[in-house]
Amino acid sequence: MNTRSTSAIIIGGGIIGCTIAWELARSGIRCTLVDKGALNQEASTAAAGMLGAQVETHHPGAFYELCRLSQQLYRDWSEEIHQISAISPQYIAQGILRAALHTDDEQELKSRLPWIQNAEWLSTSEMLAMEPGISPHILGGLRFAQDHQIHPVQLAKALQAGLHKLGCEIREWTPVLGLIERQGRIEGVRTAEGSFYADHVIICAGAWGSSLTDPLGLELPIFPVKGQCISVRTEAPVLQGTVFTQGCYIVPKLDGSMIIGATQEEAGFNKCCHVNVVSDLFGKAVKLLPSLGQAELVSTWAGLRPGTRDGLPFMGTSTQAPGLTVAMGHYRNGILLAPATGKLIKQLILGEQTTIDLTPFSPDRARAV
Ligand SMILES: Cc1cc2nc3c(=O)[nH]c(=O)nc-3n(C[C@H](O)[C@H](O)[C@H](O)COP(=O)(O)OP(=O)(O)OC[C@H]3O[C@@H](n4cnc5c(N)ncnc54)[C@H](O)[C@@H]3O)c2cc1C
Repeated sequence: MNTRSTSAIIIGGGIIGCTIAWELARSGIRCTLVDKGALNQEASTAAAGMLGAQVETHHPGAFYELCRLSQQLYRDWSEEIHQISAISPQYIAQGILRAALHTDDEQELKSRLPWIQNAEWLSTSEMLAMEPGISPHILGGLRFAQDHQIHPVQLAKALQAGLHKLGCEIREWTPVLGLIERQGRIEGVRTAEGSFYADHVIICAGAWGSSLTDPLGLELPIFPVKGQCISVRTEAPVLQGTVFTQGCYIVPKLDGSMIIGATQEEAGFNKCCHVNVVSDLFGKAVKLLPSLGQAELVSTWAGLRPGTRDGLPFMGTSTQAPGLTVAMGHYRNGILLAPATGKLIKQLILGEQTTIDLTPFSPDRARAV
């Protein structure tokens, strides 16, 4: 394929849209990235940045394989972005400790051991040897040696700078109002600035995605799941790496702050932070890391994860809307899943065999359930 004569419009400039634009532009495809606001102002910069392929997966299957593919791609992908943009996305390879505070949690964690890779069970004293600040009341936990982290805001800055260098056209503050269909094929987008056409239209509109696909009769049940977070700072470091327990995680960043996350609420498109919710989250964090009780509050925020009923993202093309490629519904794991999504969607657009089978993620599956 002569990629230089091929063009693509990408709707939505969060991590997923930016990564797809990155991969396509690197392959020589002319890309236009369109967002209703500024790039990366929604879920993608609300995230904590855990790359939790193992800590976030509760059973083997297609989702786990997708997570593992992305985990394997992450280091080289983030280095490439760093090189081209000259901005570090702050990839830190330090693993994640997943502590059990209750026996049911301990049992669930141990039940993963027969199938999960890169995990070992640590006793309470082994956990405390790694993280002396955590509560001695934990019942032990799993160490996920390959679950690393990145700084989502730095990653977003780096991707944006890199996209400019790669010649991607970026149209911010340009809401897409509708998809243009001609002779049964999607071939463009309608905006207040006019209509734009391309060989490929790729929709990555996060939690807002279904408002554009519903009018086509393409049912993609994607809905917002609010996550409230807190950032705190302590005078001296109290944590070496990321610690995670049921309903709460604490991710230390290079600037000395720690992100505490996150709630999961189906509350529409409201992004307010509520005192009772944030204080409940903080209580969970203090239970895991008691010295946080004295921490300085830096900020609180909320973001809207794009959720799906079966927990799997929608990735691929649909028989309902030829010409349209979908990459939405990455829920709790869009930062982790970005490099794999970018690679797989690029393979689809170039007509190549995809590295993994995309059938479980098909946009057509929603009609079957
Ligand atoms: C609190 C919180 C913590 C998280 N922590 C992690 C984590 O540690 N690790 C991890 O892997 N994931 C994490 N996630 C999940 C991750 O942030 C999301 O899965 C990911 O950001 C989704 O990316 P996206 O590009 O699909 O969506 P978004 O970042 O929401 O981007 C969608 C974009 O589409 C644009 N858009 C929507 N409609 C239109 C339209 N009509 N026209 C033009 N543009 C449009 C929006 O303006 C937006 O910029 C977290 C999420 C939250 C909220």
